[in-house]
Amino acid sequence: MYKIEKIRCPNCGSEGERYYIISSQLTRTQCPNCDYLMVNCTRTGKVIEAYAPGIVGIRN
Ligand SMILES: [Zn+2]
Repeated sequence: MYKIEKIRCPNCGSEGERYYIISSQLTRTQCPNCDYLMVNCTRTGKVIEAYAPGIVGIRN
């Protein structure tokens, strides 16, 4: 089970989507325009996976 929220991509500013995956306690933020991807644990806030084209220095 999950729900989807429309967000602004923090990388390119176009419209992206955030998925709240309730069963696995994850949020997944993605942008179809620039391939930005961020997966967070909702319980701890920890970044599971992150990918942002054009940004140098994004780390786990
Ligand atoms: Zn983007």
